[in-house]
Amino acid sequence: MADTEIPDDHPRSASLRTRHRIEAGVEKGITSKQGLIAQGRGEAFDYLLGERTLPSADEAERAAAARLLLADHPVVSVNGNVAALVPEETVELAEAVDADIEVNLFNRTDERMTAIADHLRAHGAEEVKGLSGDGEIPGLEHARGTVDADGIEAADVVVVPLEDGDRAEALGAMGKTEIVIDLNPASRSPRVAEIPIIDNVVRAVSNVTAHANDLADAPREELRYVADSFDADEALAAAETVIRDGSFADE
Ligand code: ATP
Repeated sequence: MADTEIPDDHPRSASLRTRHRIEAGVEKGITSKQGLIAQGRGEAFDYLLGERTLPSADEAERAAAARLLLADHPVVSVNGNVAALVPEETVELAEAVDADIEVNLFNRTDERMTAIADHLRAHGAEEVKGLSGDGEIPGLEHARGTVDADGIEAADVVVVPLEDGDRAEALGAMGKTEIVIDLNPASRSPRVAEIPIIDNVVRAVSNVTAHANDLADAPREELRYVADSFDADEALAAAETVIRDGSFADE
């Protein structure tokens, strides 16, 4: 079944569309096979969260928008799943907060780096970083720690959707403010982030953009208030409570 053939009133239409996009990403050489497994894990958590943006996630998305608008050099990191699922939305977010876009892969190959950069350009990105790989995240072996010197290495705030736990920790050790998007509140990456967004990238990225557009003219004190009053532990606990106490019968 192609993307366009999934009827809107199908009870699992959103989830099916997401699956098709990931499948197409693998076929185009954008998404890795491990990306399929990551998608499966994500889907399971999304199901338990009710496939919606929780109020605590919406607060995190607003805090993320404020933090990005306050940043000197924000970077949105893109991997194979993000490129397949939300290429246009990623470009829109980067534009809304004046951030760089950098391709950053756990399993880095030149072919996949180039395919993702081309895919992002086809969806409106003007500049895509990550290809020169002249910088590093200290504490990681070379292949895992390669980034651009004028991109992630120089960033003060990084958005890292679906990041691996080790790399999230290493970025934190570099003093970066991390905004992690991940559906699993128990995963290490959201646990080390200043702003963990427990939501599907499919909903989260465009919602951060919507908040950024809403806050675009807000004074810096208001942005600071929105970012500083967000409580990461509370947001993680709220998502965990929904997963543990949720009732399938209510959904
Ligand atoms: P960690 O090392 O942080 O514990 P992990 O080993 O759990 O990470 P993977 O197995 O690579 O990580 O899984 C990828 C992560 O991405 C999972 O936590 C999953 O919930 C999350 N994920 C997958 N798809 C999405 C999505 N569409 N939106 C948000 N998060 C997602």
